[in-house]
Amino acid sequence: MATTHLPLLKQWIRSLPERIQSDLKLNVPMYLHTTLRVGGPAECFHRATDRSKLVEIVKSAQDHEIPHILLGDGSNVCVHDSGIRGLVIRNSCASAELGETTRVDAGHSLSQLFLKSLHAGLTGLEWAVGIPGTVGGALVSNAGAYGGNICDLVESIEVVEKGVFKIVGPDWMEFSYRDSRLRRDATRPACLIGATLKLSSGCRAEIRRTARDIQMQRILKQPWEPSAGSFFKNIHDKQFANEMPDLPANLKSRGVVTSAFLLDRCGCKGLRIGGAAISRRHANFVVNCGGATAADIRSLASQARARVQARYGIDLSEEVLYLGDWPD
Ligand SMILES: Cc1cc2nc3c(=O)[nH]c(=O)nc-3n(C[C@H](O)[C@H](O)[C@H](O)COP(=O)(O)OP(=O)(O)OC[C@H]3O[C@@H](n4cnc5c(N)ncnc54)[C@H](O)[C@@H]3O)c2cc1C
Repeated sequence: MATTHLPLLKQWIRSLPERIQSDLKLNVPMYLHTTLRVGGPAECFHRATDRSKLVEIVKSAQDHEIPHILLGDGSNVCVHDSGIRGLVIRNSCASAELGETTRVDAGHSLSQLFLKSLHAGLTGLEWAVGIPGTVGGALVSNAGAYGGNICDLVESIEVVEKGVFKIVGPDWMEFSYRDSRLRRDATRPACLIGATLKLSSGCRAEIRRTARDIQMQRILKQPWEPSAGSFFKNIHDKQFANEMPDLPANLKSRGVVTSAFLLDRCGCKGLRIGGAAISRRHANFVVNCGGATAADIRSLASQARARVQARYGIDLSEEVLYLGDWPD
């Protein structure tokens, strides 16, 4: 059983100015802060709405070696039923200045940013329509859809690392498909505070049309139950795609085999453990049908992954991040 950080946290909280102490809460259930609606309590929790206070708390946590994570809207995570030891900061700082160079807080909603860019007649974010979550969470997982990826827009990023605020270029993030260094390196925690994104002037009617098409596809394909979006990453492998009978031609030509395609072929749709199910609408969505535990979600994902491994020899890797004390 992992040891609690509560004594350390309480000592740290006492060292903070009073105006910050009152904003920190103990034992806050994480299922209230994740779209999968699972997860036990964070030992200590702060809802950040003020950018300068956020920077102050993160710097202090890093200086005092307090285990901490920044969370956006919790739309890409599965939090352990025993919760998260240490400090969880939910980032709701959401200011934005729109222009061809757009500066935005990491806690700003990604899809709301698209809507603001539409009103400003700026193109580049159409793919983000309907993606839940914050700009910070999108940067960490290099979110994308329908051919767009956030990494292609990034000019610079504001970050606090080792107690120091700095502005870095996109190379610092080491972006790749649905990945960045912040997903890989838990030993070097860094908190994203904001970003500047490069957008271009465009035709409002065209931007609206593209986004409407994308939103319509999402509505038709995706389930409505609580989920964390696509559970597994797609496979980018031209040879595998070529060898795959029945793979739609547009995927074959791009050398992409979607996890949904493989999971569907392995009969995963409708599989169920406890309150967790693989959606019948979309085989790459693990959904909470009501009362699911994080353990149900993970067991079901493991079962589906094992089916794909057994049939195709492919080890799917999770797009969803497991937070808390999972065995590996
Ligand atoms: C219905 C649905 C559809 C989706 N569709 C898509 C899609 O089309 N494409 C896609 O790419 N994703 C999709 N997702 C997944 C998810 O919405 C995105 O990955 C989103 O960008 C995550 O943002 P978030 O704020 O919710 O991140 P969270 O889930 O809160 O966090 C994800 C990770 O990032 C870290 N993090 C968050 N903010 C910061 C920060 N400021 N600094 C440092 N670390 C931080 C967290 O600690 C965590 O490890 C979908 C999800 C759902 C539920």
